[in-house]
Amino acid sequence: MPAVTDFEPGLDWARAQDRADALAAFRGEFCLPPHGDGEQIYLCGNSLGLMPHATRQALADELDDWSRLAVEAHFRGRHPWMPYHGFVREHLAELVGALETEVVAMNSLSVNLHLMLVSFYRPTAQRPAILLEKRAFPSDRYALESQVRFHGFDPAQALIELDGDEANGTISLAAIERALHEHGERIALVLLPGVQYLTGQVFDLAAIVRLAHAKGCLVGFDLAHAVGNVPVDLHDSGCDFAVWCHYKYVNSGPGAVAGCFVHERHAHSERRPRFAGWWGHDQATRFQMGPDFHPTPGADGWQLSNPPILALAPLRVSLEIFHRAGIARLRQKSLALTGYLARLIEHAVPDVLDVLTPAEPQRRGSQLSLRVKGPRDAGRALFEHLSREGIVGDWREPDVIRVAPTALYNRYEDAARFVDAVDRWRAARR
Ligand SMILES: *Cc1c(COP(=O)(O)O)cnc(C)c1O
Repeated sequence: MPAVTDFEPGLDWARAQDRADALAAFRGEFCLPPHGDGEQIYLCGNSLGLMPHATRQALADELDDWSRLAVEAHFRGRHPWMPYHGFVREHLAELVGALETEVVAMNSLSVNLHLMLVSFYRPTAQRPAILLEKRAFPSDRYALESQVRFHGFDPAQALIELDGDEANGTISLAAIERALHEHGERIALVLLPGVQYLTGQVFDLAAIVRLAHAKGCLVGFDLAHAVGNVPVDLHDSGCDFAVWCHYKYVNSGPGAVAGCFVHERHAHSERRPRFAGWWGHDQATRFQMGPDFHPTPGADGWQLSNPPILALAPLRVSLEIFHRAGIARLRQKSLALTGYLARLIEHAVPDVLDVLTPAEPQRRGSQLSLRVKGPRDAGRALFEHLSREGIVGDWREPDVIRVAPTALYNRYEDAARFVDAVDRWRAARR
């Protein structure tokens, strides 16, 4: 594992790493937002990834096909619209470690979560519960709670919430195991993240699935902060379903079409309840427009509508970039880059910032969650100072700054400049 063992503080060492970085050229494929005469130091790819230059042309091509070909672009467009969602399938399957029939790009994350819950949360009087984390992303919690109520159960009884049991609020595998030992027989579904959005903790998907399946629970994952950040092997993890978005690490633009995974073992489960739409109907007979729904085998069978081409074009561009870079190579750089940033913070500004994200490289991705020490106003003041300097992270009340140096477009120099700006802010406050 290429953890950083030796480094020198200062820009010279960082720039030398950048010159030696085999992935450095990918930065040139992205639009870096301007700041003054230069560029922002953008550390916010965990929230909204940067736009690839190629996206503009890909969108222009679709608008052009629409204007020149109109309805015929479904078949004669440069990228015909009829099979369009299939054009992202191969690279998407590669990115999340799935079979091609197990993945589909559709809808948005929260919508896909609901569609998956319709099929895979089937509460009974004996087994009504869902195991989730106490600090789940609000949308996930709302979705789960509303599904519990929809089935006529009481969220106070049916939502079992895992609290962080480790320092900084992270959750150990042992805590998950204890919860399953205690409540397993009552739990219909386990829903956990791949990477926790507040702490940056990476979860061991395969280990969670083994524990939960042993208790007879189904397992779904929300991979919003995992896909494009860390390698995930969805098929081998054995989970029943997963959902994620593509506007964070996958750089497909605001509200981009999201992703959904359904394990092969459910590919032919025609009798499992689902909410159906015509685009999920068996492709061979879809346009016979018959009254009876027969789903396409695999994840495609959960599609409702014909896909939004203008929202899929950016995803096609982004996934092609990931294909060329390779998630394994990106992870290697990410381990080194985030490791460097963590070490630099501990070396240079330990009196200002506390790293909340787990220190073990395999338990974190690109993101570091940083608690700002000191009086109540310190965090906000530091965040605003960084913004004025063109350094973009994101702010979580009451005292946390999240930064994510991404392997595709961030440099070691960005990490060094971030720490340098924190250092200068501290000096100025004295
Ligand atoms: C970003 C994020 C969401 C956002 O949901 P949308 O449906 O895309 O608006 C939901 N859940 C998690 C865990 C997230 O990180």
